[in-house]
This record gives sequence, C-alpha cells and structure tokens, in this order.
Amino acid sequence: MRVWSKTTLKSLLIPGGILLLAVAVLVYSGWLTLALPSLSFLYYCALIGGMLLAWRFHSSRIFFALVVLFLAQEAIAAFGGGHVSPGTPGWMALQSAAVLVPLDFVLIALMHERGFTVAAVGPVGLFLFVQSVIVAVLCRAAEDLPGSTVRAHHVTTAVSLPGYALVVFAAACVFLLVRFLITRKPVDSALLWSLSAFFLCLRFAGVARVSTVYSATAACILAASIIENSYLLAYHDELTTLPSRRAFNDALLRLRAPYSIAVVDIDHFKRFNDTYGHDTGDQVLRLVAAGLSRVTGGGHAYRCGGEEFNILFPGKITSEVVDHLEQLRAAIESSEFRLRSGDRRQAPRGPDRRNERVRGRARKGHAIRELAQEKSSVPLSVTVSIGVATSEQEESDSGRVLQAADKALYRAKENGRNRVEIAGSPRRKTRVKAAGIA
Ligand code: GH3
Ligand code: MG
Ligand code: MG
Repeated sequence: MRVWSKTTLKSLLIPGGILLLAVAVLVYSGWLTLALPSLSFLYYCALIGGMLLAWRFHSSRIFFALVVLFLAQEAIAAFGGGHVSPGTPGWMALQSAAVLVPLDFVLIALMHERGFTVAAVGPVGLFLFVQSVIVAVLCRAAEDLPGSTVRAHHVTTAVSLPGYALVVFAAACVFLLVRFLITRKPVDSALLWSLSAFFLCLRFAGVARVSTVYSATAACILAASIIENSYLLAYHDELTTLPSRRAFNDALLRLRAPYSIAVVDIDHFKRFNDTYGHDTGDQVLRLVAAGLSRVTGGGHAYRCGGEEFNILFPGKITSEVVDHLEQLRAAIESSEFRLRSGDRRQAPRGPDRRNERVRGRARKGHAIRELAQEKSSVPLSVTVSIGVATSEQEESDSGRVLQAADKALYRAKENGRNRVEIAGSPRRKTRVKAAGIA
C-alpha cells in the first residue's frame, strides 16, 4: 500500500485540514469580523454539539478530546483571564495546557474505542480529574509568588511558547500523523488538526478573539470527524474498505450512457468458508477486494454483497473493458495468500456452519486448491467469474444493464467459472479452468 496516495491525502485534509486553513485565512485576512461574544457562542456550540454527537455515535475518544480542550481553555480563562505573561498564574495554566493537551491527545489516539460504559469512561475521567486538580494547585501556587500580579499585563500579540512546549507539540503532531498513516481513520486526522488548531489557540492566548476562533475550530474539527466517520461507514464497506452498495447506487444515478457494468463473484466461496472457516474467508475477501480496487481502464470497484462486487466503467463499452477485466481475473487467479497453520480451522463459522451437506463435500477437497502442503503454511488462491454489460446507446436504464451483466455472470458460472462473459455475445470459446478455487 502506498503511503501517500490521493485517497490518503484527501482523508488527511478533509475536513480537518481544510477547516483549519480556511479559518487561518479568515483570521489573517481580517475578514473575520465577528465580535468576541458571538465567537464564544460558536465555541460553546461546537463543544456541546461535538460532545452530543460523540455520545450519540459512541465515540468516547472524540468526547474525551473535547473534554481535554474544554478543561485547558477553562484553566487558562480562570487563572489567566487574558494575563498570560511569564510568572503569572495564567502563564502557568498555559504552560500546563501546552504540555498536557498534546500528551492527552496522544493517549486518546492510542485508546481503544470502548464506547460509554462505566468501565471505559471511569478511569479516563478520573485521570483527567486528577490532572485538572494538579494544574489548579500549580496555578494557585503561582498566584502566591511575589510580584506575580505586578508583572501581569494584558498581552495583545502572539505568545512565545517555551521551547519544550514546542517540542512536545511537534512530537505529538508527528506521532498523530504517523498514526493516521497507519490507521487512515478520520478520528486520527481530527486529533492531529485539532491539536494544531489548539496550538494556534495557545499561541494567540493573549488575543482573546483569535484564541477563541482557534479553540472553536479545534472543537469543530473533532465534531466534524464524527460526521466524516459516519459518512465513511455509510458509503464504505468496513471489511474490504471498498465503496459499498449505497455508493454504487449513488454512482449509478450520476451515470450517463455509454458505460459498462461488470459483476464479479468469487467461485465456490461457500466451500472455501466451509473448509477454512469464516475468518480466512474474510481474508480472501480483502485480498480479492484489493485486487479489484486496482482495476485498470477507468473502472471503480464496489462491494455490493457478501462476495459479490460490481465494477463501473463510465464512458466505456464492453469491447474497451473486456481486456482489463481479463487481466483482473488473471491477477486474482495468480495471487496467493498464505494461511498460517495456526489459522487453519476445519470447523466453519457463519452461515455455512448449518450446511452439513456442503461441508461434507468441501472436506473431500472439491473446492480448495492447496498449492503446497508445507508444515508452516498453506498457499491458497481463489478465482472469480465476471459478467459484463454495456448501456445501450440512447437509454441508460442501469437496472437493465445490471440484469444483463448478472445473466452474463450466470453464463460464466455455467461455462466452468474463472472466466469473463460478455452480455448478449454468443458463447465464447474461452479456456475453461477447473472449477472454482480450482
Ligand atoms: P459460486 O461459484 O456459484 O458463486 O458458488 P459460491 O459457493 O460462491 O456460491 P454463492 O456465491 O451463493 O456463495 C456465497 C457465500 O459467500 C455464502 C457465504 O458463505 C459467503 N459469504 C458471504 N459474505 C461473506 C463474508 O462477509 N465473509 C465470509 N467469510 N464469507 C461470506
Ligand atoms: Mg454469490
Ligand atoms: Mg460465489
């Protein structure tokens, strides 16, 4: 998997990066003319709205990130109130926030999402409470220092954060970026951009308006990540990460003739599940999906059912896509994955567990090709059958095209599987492979 693909950049920057950039431009250009009370209102709306969304969507990590932002803001406001020059309690609150918020964000990124159960929320809540008490004690101690009030003055320019705080912020941002590149989850990119916004909030801690704008942005970014995550869940399949049937139906609505639709179905997958178990079946689904996502010829793959995938080729007719589909079929046939001996499970899970008759057949070894029977691993591969159809010149009834592609798929199955069949074409004399996982 490439580290910096277009999709990765898109999911890194949208919506967090774009939001922060837009706000920064508004602030620097002076276009942001809202008064402080309206900005504070926006900040609390983002904060409370985000917390409600996080609760409704069972995202305790986003909830805690919002709580951390809130506590940091409240500490600076309570002990600083605009006075953040060195030696003041406000300065102590700002320094504590500059170190603790990045560390808390890193811990939140590492947390497992366990929803809002008492067992999940309790320890983190207690940890944040203890942290707040320590910060309060430190700030109170700074209040008692001689001269702390004398030196205090209202800062109206950017605050120079101490060097160690900059190092902690930079290290946390690098960590969150690497974490995002590994997980590619909206919550991790949101933590990164929200922390960046919070850095700007501290940097301008003495300029109340600007500081509030950035703290509202930090909260907005976290709240927006919940919506982004829900969108991904609605339009993408979690197992394979391919776009889902809903995304396919949406794409169909936007299509204009000519276009081609290919329907792909894994051969004898039921038997594969029966023999190797559902978990291994899931691994195969991921492998096939990864292959399909690399389809050439301008195609886009979708997971539309259990082991059924559709590929859309906008602007293409069958003669233009059939070679690409043939390449795809061959690539899937030749790709292997190794099943570690520990993974091998003869007892199936899932729907096939009930099908004793099929399981009996599978155990006789009809379905699975074991390319080698090594002690440590068993290389496996599967094949797919593909049916493809093209929209008629004028009408673009996608339902009919899909039906024609399905019929072609049925023919591919009848004709021996592991092959590509074109809708409406006479039976092609293509190589007939041994059935299925052959
Ligand atoms: P054919 O060659 O005719 O397509 O035979 P088949 O066994 O593949 O038949 P069919 O397409 O009807 O089988 C669908 C099977 O796909 C049933 C189920 O065991 C399996 N399946 C569906 N969804 C999943 C899934 O999410 N994970 C796993 N592991 N298996 C799934
Ligand atoms: Mg099927
Ligand atoms: Mg099948």
